[in-house]
Amino acid sequence: MGILKFFVRYFFFVLLFFFSATENNLSAQNQNFDTVQIRTTKLTQSIYMLEGTGAGNIGVCVGTDGTFIIDDQYAPLTEKIKVAIAKLTNKPVQFIINTHWHGDHSGGNENFGKEGAIIVSQENSRKRLEANQFFGLPPHEQAAYSKPGLPKITFTQSITFHYNGETIQIFHIADAHTNGDAIIYFQQSNVVHMGDVFVRYGFPFIDEPNGGNINGMIETIDSVVNLVNENTTIIPGHGQLSKKKDLIDYNTMLRTVRDRIKKQMDEGKTMEQIISSNPLNGYVKEGPNANNIIRIVYNSVLKSKK
Ligand SMILES: [Zn+2]
Repeated sequence: MGILKFFVRYFFFVLLFFFSATENNLSAQNQNFDTVQIRTTKLTQSIYMLEGTGAGNIGVCVGTDGTFIIDDQYAPLTEKIKVAIAKLTNKPVQFIINTHWHGDHSGGNENFGKEGAIIVSQENSRKRLEANQFFGLPPHEQAAYSKPGLPKITFTQSITFHYNGETIQIFHIADAHTNGDAIIYFQQSNVVHMGDVFVRYGFPFIDEPNGGNINGMIETIDSVVNLVNENTTIIPGHGQLSKKKDLIDYNTMLRTVRDRIKKQMDEGKTMEQIISSNPLNGYVKEGPNANNIIRIVYNSVLKSKK
């Protein structure tokens, strides 16, 4: 096949690949970090959000005790992140909480860890970081982190920080985006960081092959909806700042899709029959990306039944 013919034939798929650019295919290898600029948004007197590549929104809490950050993006961005934080405070990063182990949220761990930052995560996320992992669509490898990049403090269900005048509740509800997600709630500032349990790029990627589950996503979001109020600022793992209503709408989408698929599974329908019924109607266009999502939801429901 000539190159032109090849290009014409596969143009659609190439387009699809680039336009479905989420954390799934934004691996560190295929990005140019030199041009990335870190954007800082002030949320309250002590809380900020940093954005870089569009991946892994970073939360920053500054104050008299020190600097506490949520996620640290990709390793090549560490210096730029430090410069952005230095404009907010002269105190170094003392604590980092990883919302989960995916590299677009934890890639800076080794750099910060070598400088003395103490990393905190849900226990399963540390286990993932200790060994080589495959994840994403298409799957790519994430090598095991060296010791400075590993969390020194882990928790199974919850841990509370009393820091910079904030009561910071960190909790894990269920297997959701991964099997090691952490939600962070700053009580006094009324700010929540959701990690990738909540994203704004459309229907979320759920790392089901590595223990994620749509039922746990719905359950986790329900508990956050019960915790927050109309004034709460919600930081998603990817995308723009949000409010409680956005979270409720997002959970309605997850529930609707899950229920459409589960109902057909209960009726004994095959995967092919479910795919052809277009259960993502209204949310995701039919095609390879939709099929992947359906498989993930199908497998989630199957696992939850056991
Ligand atoms: Zn993720």
